[in-house]
Amino acid sequence: MKKILSFVFLMFLFFCSKSDSSDVISSEENNSNLPETFGNWSPDFTNQTTNFNQTRTGSKGTNETREITVTGSDEVLLSIESKLLTDINEDGDNFDITSQTITTFTASEGLGSFISSGTTLIKSDINIELKNAGQVDVDITSISTGEVLINANPSDGYRFLGWDGISISTPTSVNPLSMDIESDNNIKANFLNINDPDYSGIGFYADPIYSQIDPNNLYSYLDVFILDAKRYGVDLSYVHEGCANMILDPNFTGAAGASFGGCIDNQVRIKINKTYWEEQFQILMSRPYANPLYSDTTIYGFHLIWHELGHDILNIDHTCNETPNFLNHFAGCGQDSGVNLQYTSDMLWFTDDSKPDTSQQNRGFHTAVSNYYRKVNQVITNQSSTGCDCPLPETCIRTFCSSGWSRTQNWGSETYTTNWCQTLDRINVNYSEEYVGSCPGKNLVFYTNNNELICEGVPL
Ligand SMILES: [Zn+2]
Repeated sequence: MKKILSFVFLMFLFFCSKSDSSDVISSEENNSNLPETFGNWSPDFTNQTTNFNQTRTGSKGTNETREITVTGSDEVLLSIESKLLTDINEDGDNFDITSQTITTFTASEGLGSFISSGTTLIKSDINIELKNAGQVDVDITSISTGEVLINANPSDGYRFLGWDGISISTPTSVNPLSMDIESDNNIKANFLNINDPDYSGIGFYADPIYSQIDPNNLYSYLDVFILDAKRYGVDLSYVHEGCANMILDPNFTGAAGASFGGCIDNQVRIKINKTYWEEQFQILMSRPYANPLYSDTTIYGFHLIWHELGHDILNIDHTCNETPNFLNHFAGCGQDSGVNLQYTSDMLWFTDDSKPDTSQQNRGFHTAVSNYYRKVNQVITNQSSTGCDCPLPETCIRTFCSSGWSRTQNWGSETYTTNWCQTLDRINVNYSEEYVGSCPGKNLVFYTNNNELICEGVPL
């Protein structure tokens, strides 16, 4: 009977434990055989970023401890200042690429996770200088690949010429421009007023040396020629010690000519056809010339003078190369040679997307200039323009044909005055003259050292 009562009591106890826990505690206190119960682990997982310990105390006074492992996983968010609406590095633009590390900390024991956002930093400082009127925007659609696209949009009345700048080894007209965001970028977007073009500071004229050319001052070309040579390791400073005479001649029948008759490199004498110069060559950039040689955006005036100074100072004769060369001229080729001459004047400072085969032409331009000054792939002449050997002997009798007249003259050093290059005052001794008829369709005829007559009536 006692056992039955005990069972009833336990049943009752069980029943009560469902409905009144205070009775349970009181029962537990009264019964050390009941299992120990524990409260919550403490401290909670809130913002811990490293492993930590949690403890809890049981109903019978037992202390328990467990280690909570906290793991962090990083995600780098790339963006651009313009999207964040803030100029983070306060450099006055909103083009800079930003990065922010987002770390998710997750605790073991299923305690969950929280996110911590790091400071927003500049990943790539993009400085874009705008030359003339236009806008640029940075497209970060493909930023996860490590590149952004920079679009140039000219204002009304302007067109986009191309990109150059410190971070661009080869200036290019490719638009949009793809830029690597692993480094800072300094670039310049060049726009041009269609109706009133001003090329200063753009492309060719952004070069620290070539930009010193003043198209209204022919002698500035000579100064720059000497500076340019120095850039390629060739010292031509001695030219300044002599005399120079660079003139626009309204009656000159060719495009230009170098009178290197005296074989004296520091006596520079260049004649340029005044009409050609003023109507074509002095205009330094794009112009729709009828002659396809000039039809591209060119730096033709520069090319022409480098051609003549090459004759005069560097003693280079015409070349017949399929690689770009200042001295290329069909007179350097045999009749119908079929050589497709390449001219430095065809090389744009900005590359031309429509000609992928020449997309590296700007790089080629510098190779051409280097070869020119170092006399690589050039035809070095050891003779004056009249065919006399250098250094010039006192007397050198040559036949010269001009305007249909064949003249036998003395071109020796005894005929040149000391200030010849400035005055053209020359004691030119004529030995004979004979009318031989005009040179068909051409203007100038030069006598060469192998007794051939060559007509040279076209520019170059
Ligand atoms: Zn020439």
